[in-house]
Amino acid sequence: MKKILVTGGAGFIGSHLVKRLTEQGNYVTVLDNLLRGNKLEKHILNSVRFVKGDVRDFETVKAVSKGCELIYHFAAVLGVDVVADNPVETMETEIIGMKNISDSAILFGTEKIIYASTSGVYGHSAINQSVTENIQIDPRTSYAIAKRYNEIYLAALHEEKGLQSVSLRFFNVYGIGQDNRMVVPRFFEQALLNNSITVYGNGKQTRDFTYIEDTVNACVLTAEKVKGCEIFNVANEEEKTIMDLAKEIKAITKTQSEITLIEAPKKRYDFEVERRMGNSEKLFYAVGSKPSTSLSKGLKIISNHFKNESKSQLVKQRG
Ligand code: UDP
Repeated sequence: MKKILVTGGAGFIGSHLVKRLTEQGNYVTVLDNLLRGNKLEKHILNSVRFVKGDVRDFETVKAVSKGCELIYHFAAVLGVDVVADNPVETMETEIIGMKNISDSAILFGTEKIIYASTSGVYGHSAINQSVTENIQIDPRTSYAIAKRYNEIYLAALHEEKGLQSVSLRFFNVYGIGQDNRMVVPRFFEQALLNNSITVYGNGKQTRDFTYIEDTVNACVLTAEKVKGCEIFNVANEEEKTIMDLAKEIKAITKTQSEITLIEAPKKRYDFEVERRMGNSEKLFYAVGSKPSTSLSKGLKIISNHFKNESKSQLVKQRG
């Protein structure tokens, strides 16, 4: 049992992680600004120390991190549309947030920081290959550049101050409770409301969709087993076109919806990459497991979950 801080713990990945950590008997503090709502179930919320606040505020960060042996730093401005509209806030949240978290960690002797990085750091370098952590990266967006800056900052902190950390490059995480800024819940919502399923461009762009429980496993296992300062891909190693994703969600929901090809919103242009698929071998060798839930299986779990939800609840999930 550990004292653990999770920043962004009310968000999609954070809330699943907090659930797991509390079920394991840890004493968890959540710091979240609740700008995107609170995804923590009530009984979980009741079993954590919850603080509403911003990672850019050092006094708040100090107050919540004091005494914590481990920090999961997952608070971020997230989602292509939100980031494109708020690049300054995106970068400030990343960079000031990390400065505050790591200063606090050093001040209070926290053992390790687990940081939510992104597969976005690979940018267009993923076009011809399944990417490993050591290939030449190509971050282009405010979000990916700030995440990469923080990876390097953590490496510097390890070298100079001995602070241990793990940066996890997540590949298109999806699962129950995600809001429709991301493509999987967006297609589900469109299908369940019998609206058009909107595929951007020609639908041939690919992504590597990683199921949330596999993602949480990687978070927990790297915290337990990895020493020093490391970067890991958290990827399912299953490349899917967005058109195939749309077809699979159409089939699984038995919707009347048509799949429609439309031009991607202009603000997405800098963010769009043709191909993205990760290699998780490094993670496997370090912790003995890697993501393994097939996209078909993950989509079935979500579909079964939605069968128990009313359409009004579905719409309430909008981000
Ligand atoms: N996408 C789409 N239709 C939508 C939303 C997204 O075709 O309504 C595509 C988008 O162009 C991208 C992929 O789905 O290629 C994943 O988008 P998302 O925003 O979930 O994550 P990204 O990989 O862009 O960070």
